[in-house]
Amino acid sequence: METIKTFLVEIVCPECGRTGTAHASARETADIGMATSLDQIPYGFSLAQAATANSGPKVTC
Ligand SMILES: [Zn+2]
Repeated sequence: METIKTFLVEIVCPECGRTGTAHASARETADIGMATSLDQIPYGFSLAQAATANSGPKVTC
């Protein structure tokens, strides 16, 4: 049984400081635990690195 929660997350470009709001979802499963992914990121931003166990997804613009 897995649980999916969706939420809004504030993202910041590490290079220029531009901010935006992304739609994210967190999926919790018995085998891998919590996994967060970005479902929708603001126009002009792109995903630089997918989420890992130690950090959330990173985006740049
Ligand atoms: Zn930027």
